[in-house]
Amino acid sequence: MPNMIRATSVSTGLAMGAVHVVTTGVDTVPLFTVSKGMLQAEIDRLQEAVGLAMDELDRRHKLVASQAGSQEAEIFNVQKLVLQDPGALREVESKIRDERVNAESAVKTLIDRLHASLSGVGEAGARGFAADVSEPWKRVLDALLNRDRESVHSTQEKVIVAAAELTPRVVAFLSRELVLAVVAEVGGRFSHGAVLARAMGIPCVVGIPNLLSRLEQGMTIIVDGDAGRLMLRPEDDDKTEFNKRLELHDERTARLTGLAIGVSETRDGEPLHVQANIEGLRDLDTFDIRTIDGVGLFRTEFLYMERDQFPSEDEQYRIYRQVLERMGDKPVTMRTLDIGADKTLPYFKTPPEPNPALGWRGLRISLGWRDLLRVQLRALLRASTAGNLRVLLPMVTSLEEIREVHKEFDALRRELVGQGHEVAVDVPVGAMIEVPSSFLTLRHIVQEVDFISVGTNDLVQYLLAVDRDNPWVSKLFESYHPAVLVALKYIARIAKETNTPCSVCGDMAGDPATAVMLMGFGFDSISAAAHFAPEIKHAVRSVMMKDARILAKDLADQATVAHVQKALEEFAAQYDLTGDALRV
Ligand code: PEP
Ligand code: MG
Repeated sequence: MPNMIRATSVSTGLAMGAVHVVTTGVDTVPLFTVSKGMLQAEIDRLQEAVGLAMDELDRRHKLVASQAGSQEAEIFNVQKLVLQDPGALREVESKIRDERVNAESAVKTLIDRLHASLSGVGEAGARGFAADVSEPWKRVLDALLNRDRESVHSTQEKVIVAAAELTPRVVAFLSRELVLAVVAEVGGRFSHGAVLARAMGIPCVVGIPNLLSRLEQGMTIIVDGDAGRLMLRPEDDDKTEFNKRLELHDERTARLTGLAIGVSETRDGEPLHVQANIEGLRDLDTFDIRTIDGVGLFRTEFLYMERDQFPSEDEQYRIYRQVLERMGDKPVTMRTLDIGADKTLPYFKTPPEPNPALGWRGLRISLGWRDLLRVQLRALLRASTAGNLRVLLPMVTSLEEIREVHKEFDALRRELVGQGHEVAVDVPVGAMIEVPSSFLTLRHIVQEVDFISVGTNDLVQYLLAVDRDNPWVSKLFESYHPAVLVALKYIARIAKETNTPCSVCGDMAGDPATAVMLMGFGFDSISAAAHFAPEIKHAVRSVMMKDARILAKDLADQATVAHVQKALEEFAAQYDLTGDALRV
């Protein structure tokens, strides 16, 4: 079928709807076709963006003039003149009209032409001029990219988001009620964009070169996250078949969800706490919270990523408090800010890094910028009386880092009590185990924390030297690599020997058979995207603890990924872990 495209699935599920190509938060400027009827609207969008860029230049002119003098600010007047050049504007408008392309790509072509026409001249002065004439048009591009978000929100229609690259900002681009599915030209299976799509329970496929050039804004498409494919412009028959499959899918989900309330135990009575990974308060409205035994990972950085500036202590306090109240007695594990690599804040610029995964990220940033850490810890401590809070530290690499946090934590607790705030007597602090050094020194680390949680997404990346965000090596990202299983077995053993509560909150825990294996290793809880909880609970209830232990022992002895996967599949089929037999 010519309109069927093969892709890599990073999040299962089915969706059909109108496509919306997003431009926000991507490094590559997207190119897509604009339908004839929408050409004038695209040109209006361009003109509006030029107006916004002019306002921005005015604002900068005033700012620089007041701080450095009018001579220094003159450059912004020159830039405004460049934008007022009718020739350049006409050139961009004609490109949109004649080639029916989106405004961003037409502006990008102009910027490239301005660069090309003056590059190679060799004179520093001439090159400097090239930079200047393209600079104001870069502001127009920024304005177009930022306005996109608002324009989609105003339509309030559910859409399938299409993007050049699966970045977290793309997935978080719209409120989740408005996103049916996400499709992207590139993106790693364990990139944060993919993690987010799974957490939101929306289908997502990637690995479709030149996808955007085949799409038109508003075109109907079907995303099949189960089979890993995409269908453009489905016919009536395709739509009918899709609706049938969706009905079956929803029936099965409803049946498993109904059975998932309360803690699940194996057939011989061993519990596994199945918790949820969330990115914000509103996630709690997207599933039945009775089906989860707590929040095993609240990725608080998404609060920061959705804003234009750092959230204040009060703002954070209110959100943390509401999450804790909603969860009642159940534990809520809030992880301190874990930005860096592909999780960036638009208002917190850091210099480009050659190896961002090995760079300035997670706890390193919080310890480097103590005021960020202090604001967040104060907000968490103030909220702590509202429920069962646990604080989790990301990217722990050494014992010294944990000690530094404890010092801050204790000092802030005293400060808050001194200021008359109520703070819970006991707020457990835990460490993410996701950097090899932390599991190799686990015996020391567990002496200084109340619990541990294994972040397998990063642990796999660092154990196998495979960048989770790099699509070129995504085939090498193997959660079932024997080295990973040996590490997991070791971590669970140390935790058991030292009586340290231990969980796994990386994405591999979302697979039912894998969850049983983790229980067999000795993990007492797992945390995954909430919509996996019903299946996982069903899996736990289908087995005896001794089956889980035998499975874990068997898998930890396998020498290759293929053997591990085969054994897991056989186990899942033998015990009907996916609940397929429940259908009849
Ligand atoms: C992990 O690394 O496995 C994890 C849970 O954290 P994140 O995916 O947010 O890095
Ligand atoms: Mg991580």
